[in-house]
Amino acid sequence: MSDILYVISGLLLGLAFQGGIWFFLIPFALVSAALAWLNRPKLPESATAMINKVSNNPTTDATAIGSIFRKMPPTSEQPDLRTVFNNKVLEFNEPTSKLKIDQIWSRADTELNLSMSFLLKALKVMLPKTHTLGVFFLQGNENALVLRTYVSDSTEIVPNTLITANSGLISQILDPSVQRLLEGDLFSSKGLYYRSGSIPVKSIVATPIYDKDHNLHGALVVDSLMPNAFDASVANALSDIASVLFTLSFKSFASAKNFIEQQQFSILYHYQKKFFKNMNVKDIYKEIFEYVKGNIPYDRMMILALDKNNEEKGRVICCDGEDSELFVNQEFSLSDKGVVVLALLRNRIIERNFTAGFSDYTSRINETEKKNFELRHLFAMPIAIEENAEVADLAISLESKIPNRYSQHEKELLKTIAGVAGFAYERARAFEKGKDLATKDGLTGLINHRTLHEQLRTEKLRAERQKINIGVMMMDIDHFKSVNDTYGHPAGDEVIKGIASTIREEIRSEIDIVARYGGEEFVVALIDTTPEGLKDTAERIRLAIEKKAFDIHQSSPLKITVSIGAYLVLPEFRDMKQALKQADQALYKAKNSGRNQVFVYQKEEDVHLD
Ligand code: GH3
Ligand code: MG
Ligand code: MG
Repeated sequence: MSDILYVISGLLLGLAFQGGIWFFLIPFALVSAALAWLNRPKLPESATAMINKVSNNPTTDATAIGSIFRKMPPTSEQPDLRTVFNNKVLEFNEPTSKLKIDQIWSRADTELNLSMSFLLKALKVMLPKTHTLGVFFLQGNENALVLRTYVSDSTEIVPNTLITANSGLISQILDPSVQRLLEGDLFSSKGLYYRSGSIPVKSIVATPIYDKDHNLHGALVVDSLMPNAFDASVANALSDIASVLFTLSFKSFASAKNFIEQQQFSILYHYQKKFFKNMNVKDIYKEIFEYVKGNIPYDRMMILALDKNNEEKGRVICCDGEDSELFVNQEFSLSDKGVVVLALLRNRIIERNFTAGFSDYTSRINETEKKNFELRHLFAMPIAIEENAEVADLAISLESKIPNRYSQHEKELLKTIAGVAGFAYERARAFEKGKDLATKDGLTGLINHRTLHEQLRTEKLRAERQKINIGVMMMDIDHFKSVNDTYGHPAGDEVIKGIASTIREEIRSEIDIVARYGGEEFVVALIDTTPEGLKDTAERIRLAIEKKAFDIHQSSPLKITVSIGAYLVLPEFRDMKQALKQADQALYKAKNSGRNQVFVYQKEEDVHLD
């Protein structure tokens, strides 16, 4: 419009000066020129007002106002997509793990840079009057714009230039009431300057980049060294392109996210293979722990397991993060009904968000635990061998200080790992059970006859190397037949179990060996002992059994005794089977001497301990 009016005014003036009598056209020409001036492409009112406000400030120097980028230092470090976007893309997406975000942003960064610079180059070809085309992104925290990508004829443009509020023309875009900047003829002939002030910019269009909810994400800025280079239709087109730019950033984020998620699933696959290579339960715990540690962020993580022998109880197998030392190995009862325990008890995912102030705090394991009021989100995933079992076998608990920390994707990953771990756990348990059946006695849990000989062989080789003694004891329950006859075979079994646990209590659990050798016979091997040590330990075991009251559900507890034959195997004595025979001979003597006593075999004669 203003262009046409300018032309008309020029024509009228020309006619007036040429035709002599056409002087009366001069006022019309002046009116037309005035109208053209009034109709020139303009900043929206608010933006113009702001420029005026700054211009009228006597303390602001003229070059600073007359600049597109006020003389600001460029940002010190290269901001990546994440900092300039201040994670905003994520806000209308799900919260995602820190680890994943890092990977996604850096990938999205590369993708976005590439596509944006293609787009700007294409625009430059289509708008030949342009001098510089730049995309600014909002530096979220600071309410400032950072030059992200640009195409320019000049070398004056500084990458990562930071534009804060009230620092030149483009900063007007930060004002939410400014929908667009369109200045056709900037400060008339003077123009506006970039940093060094050598290039006078005459026209500029700046369009905000909005997301779909109309939140500001940045600005697309196009300038020209010619006056009136852009009109409203160009500005409108640039508005549309600005929304394409937003879509582009979102798309590059989304495609990077897809890529990373695919990668995560391949990591999962790798772990699946690792899981199935493991045949013991402890290794399965370790694999779950390592997977979670490497792939899902937390402020505290725990793996809980149900007690195999007592389904009423459980234990924290491992714990990492906040106060972890307080939780490792902590036992709990399923009736405690702590939040995490519920995941086991109900075989159900348990999720809680705790608000600040923690009025709704519920204990996680039990009432006595130390409370951490900073933790905001709890997510506990049960792991069950049978999918629909009432009670789960294991549970992974994740806690974070960030509310709603765990995303749907992470929950899915955990669910998958829980499924795989459940299978692997079942297999490992079955394998361990099979191994136990072959090596251990089902009634007492002690190793059996065959395993005893294997272990003695190994220990003997070590003892020879280290020149240490092994003390062996052969033990037999006194008058056991009468226990069976009087109270029944099941009661006899209870007595055998009781004796096994009494022996266990009297020896060093990690060092010495105890085996159920036969029906009611036991063998104990003390590794690295002395003649006195052997005698004393044998006597201690005998006494402990003598003192023990066996509760076999009779009116009065039963009294049981054992006879023990012992033999000290010196390093140079090679034959362990022979050693057991010597101990057996000593046992025979103990029986013959009235039972409930210890005999130590010594060469030809047995010495009675008294
Ligand atoms: P002694 O003092 O001479 O050893 O007398 P005893 O009655 O204990 O005699 P002996 O050691 O020969 O008896 C073994 C008995 O132990 C025979 C058998 O009924 C019983 N027995 C062996 N194995 C088991 C078992 O697993 N459970 C039960 N309940 N009894 C067993
Ligand atoms: Mg016997
Ligand atoms: Mg016996």
